[in-house]
Amino acid sequence: MNYSEMTSINELIAPIQGQQYEYSYWDNKGKYQKTIDYLWIHYVPEQGEASSEVGEAVRAINRLMYDFYNNGFCNAVNEEREDCPSCYGSGYEGDEDDCSYCGGDCDVVTDYNLDSYYDKMARAIGKYLGDSTYYHAFRELAYRVGHYDADFDSEYIKFMDVTADAISEKWLSTRFAYA
Ligand SMILES: [Zn+2]
Repeated sequence: MNYSEMTSINELIAPIQGQQYEYSYWDNKGKYQKTIDYLWIHYVPEQGEASSEVGEAVRAINRLMYDFYNNGFCNAVNEEREDCPSCYGSGYEGDEDDCSYCGGDCDVVTDYNLDSYYDKMARAIGKYLGDSTYYHAFRELAYRVGHYDADFDSEYIKFMDVTADAISEKWLSTRFAYA
């Protein structure tokens, strides 16, 4: 995680900042709920990967939202651990006492990132939308949740709804272009 990635969420919700934005796909009241429902039925298989980019994007936003709202993103967030720099991974301080830095755990958390499965999901969204900001925003969310820095009631988590809006808008525009 680097600082250039820590602005993605704010960037994505900037257009709705200060507005009443009460749509939520999680309540089945998304701005493009009918579109997302249609895509889910027609492009997402019951199991496994979808065969189209839009299907993968819809599957991905669903998986990411599901873990966020149901599990507090605990499956999506991966802890990166390294040997404790104080006891060099022995867990001890001196001969017998537990290391005060790692508490005897031997390793310490050095960063939080997206678990590889959810990373792949976030990539599918960025790929379909042709904008890596969406991918970076999910990485940023994982980092914030890992640091207990995510306010679940805050407007900025609305970026998941904004992401579902963007997937819908992209598909609708493509569809009309060929109609
Ligand atoms: Zn230690």
